[in-house]
Amino acid sequence: MLKTPIYMDNQATTRCDPRVVEAMLPYFSETFGNAASRNHSFGWQAEEAVDKARNQIAALIGAKSKEIIFTSGATESDNLAIKGIVEFYREKGNHVITCVTEHKAVLDSCRALERLGKASVTYLPVDKYGMVDPDAVRNAITDKTVLVTIMYANNEIGTVHPIREIGKIAKEKGIIFHCDAVQAVGKIPVDVELDQIDLLSMSGHKIYGPKGVGALYVRSKGPRVRLSPIIDGGGHERGMRSGTLNVTGIVGFGAACELSGKEMPEEAARLKELRSRLQAGIFERLDEVYLNGHPTERLPGNLNVSFAYVEGESLLMGISDVAVSSGSACTSATLEPSYVIRSLGVNEELAHSSIRFGLGRFNTAEEVDYVSDRVTREVKRLREMSPLYEMAREGIDLKSVQWKS
Ligand SMILES: *Cc1c(COP(=O)(O)O)cnc(C)c1O
Repeated sequence: MLKTPIYMDNQATTRCDPRVVEAMLPYFSETFGNAASRNHSFGWQAEEAVDKARNQIAALIGAKSKEIIFTSGATESDNLAIKGIVEFYREKGNHVITCVTEHKAVLDSCRALERLGKASVTYLPVDKYGMVDPDAVRNAITDKTVLVTIMYANNEIGTVHPIREIGKIAKEKGIIFHCDAVQAVGKIPVDVELDQIDLLSMSGHKIYGPKGVGALYVRSKGPRVRLSPIIDGGGHERGMRSGTLNVTGIVGFGAACELSGKEMPEEAARLKELRSRLQAGIFERLDEVYLNGHPTERLPGNLNVSFAYVEGESLLMGISDVAVSSGSACTSATLEPSYVIRSLGVNEELAHSSIRFGLGRFNTAEEVDYVSDRVTREVKRLREMSPLYEMAREGIDLKSVQWKS
């Protein structure tokens, strides 16, 4: 029997893997020490657990364990990377290069620096697949540029940027390269050496670990990257991030990284297959459906589709036993269409009609079939009630219609 509601929103968050929970349990009330307590075994045991997690996390991205700085999540990692670099290198310059489809944690950090007069920011456009052009990055670099920050893979449309090429350009020009790799780490191979990334943000809860824990990788050599802290306190994490470590969360995050690393090839293949099955189920049974994002260079578990003549929000309400997300209202209180979808050049109506299906570790083929049937039927039902869809079917060019007010 199929159990509902079905969770298919794995780019928003993921269920904590039971094996991760298992690893975390002893650290709540048995091994509960403060990892910064240097003078007794409670502290040493906690520190040992943190060291193990640091190794597990570093191993997943080809880093050294001392290069991992623990944070409260990727929002903080993005803030620390961007604000910390701009502050530390302020004598060198104040120019930052990013892209219009970044996560709000990146965009709003940039905006905050602009508002304070601390940075001038170039927001690069993307092509119709949501991809940034490495040559545009190269051309945007000036002698005042201190940071390039481009995400690995987009959380809404799943597009994977040409990160290795961008890393190469940044390295050639001697510019620090930060990458928000939250959606990529654990899902596709990420390697800070091969990709030439200097700072990398990651988060526990997007890879079947707990919420409220993340990390920032900070390159220690070639070049040694320095940054100013945004939180002052006891000088934990090599002075870059003060605050008592979330030992339990860190243990879970470490375990999640190890599992993701081990299972990545099979999991990615399985998710791609489920995604194709879902895509085929929708595209073979409906007309006027459009894929958002790159057809091939995309995250294995992401499918983002616009259903013309259907409001995303109405569709969501019609399939209330399926948890997916729509391109409307998801980033603001007002009903604005997603800025990511809009940046692809998609018109406002189609942006409003977009749905993100986020497949993950715990989804099954049976669930995919249920969701594809459910969505297909609901789209057909909504379109039957749509005079616009009727008119379009009759061959009337909607743009030529003179509407009476
Ligand atoms: C989820 C997400 C974040 C924020 O991570 P939190 O750990 O929830 O703060 C940042 N960037 C991207 C691309 C994300 O998907």
